[in-house]
Amino acid sequence: MRPARAPSALRRSRAAGPHDGPVWLFDLDNTLHDASRSIFRLIDQRMSQAVATTLGVDRAQADALRRRYWTRYGATAIGMARHHGVDIHRFLALSHDFEVAPLVHGETGLARRLRRLPGRKILLTNAPAHYARQVLSTLGILHEFDGLWGIEEMNLQGRHRPKPSRALMHQILARLRVPAHRVILIEDTLANLKSAHQAGMRTVYVYHPGTPFSTQRRGRDLYVGRRVNALGPLLTWARDGRIPGSPGRA
Ligand SMILES: [Mg+2]
Repeated sequence: MRPARAPSALRRSRAAGPHDGPVWLFDLDNTLHDASRSIFRLIDQRMSQAVATTLGVDRAQADALRRRYWTRYGATAIGMARHHGVDIHRFLALSHDFEVAPLVHGETGLARRLRRLPGRKILLTNAPAHYARQVLSTLGILHEFDGLWGIEEMNLQGRHRPKPSRALMHQILARLRVPAHRVILIEDTLANLKSAHQAGMRTVYVYHPGTPFSTQRRGRDLYVGRRVNALGPLLTWARDGRIPGSPGRA
């Protein structure tokens, strides 16, 4: 993938055969960078502002709607599209309209470690693609990815289905054309790992204290193949072709 004309995960994956190496699906926020440190606060403000402006409601009403849609659909933008006929692209552009670079905090050495990781790397995020590109670009890792799948692409039969949709997980596997056990989802959100596991993928849980419902307990759920507190050691460990975790049940 080249930054200027980044292909979608969809198109690039179709060209690949079923006998390739592992396919790494990376989440973005609180996985590849620390979004809780400053970006989430700003997105939160912008999102509420975008709902209030778009629907002509006050801030309290906007926040209530956001909570309702986030709980029900996994993303405010989907609720806005479904219930208010709002254009999802326009809404996401409004809510993510800020300069990302000064707010991005990533791990040292991430680009080098990703470069050495064998296999295809695809970004899978419930965030809009233009925001994801800016973050990856700031981290200096955009060109390390073979594809980028943002929320705009998570469509199935005319409906938006972001993570943790199991239908989305199956759709991804169909497009990748690789057996599920060769696909590894790396994520900070447990619900997403659970549906990936149910679709037969391997899973790596990146613990982040700022992620809702994150768990500090040492034990891990059955759908968590491996648990890490940072990406660096995992990528170093996996660079020799070792695939973490055990596959889920397809
Ligand atoms: Mg995340």
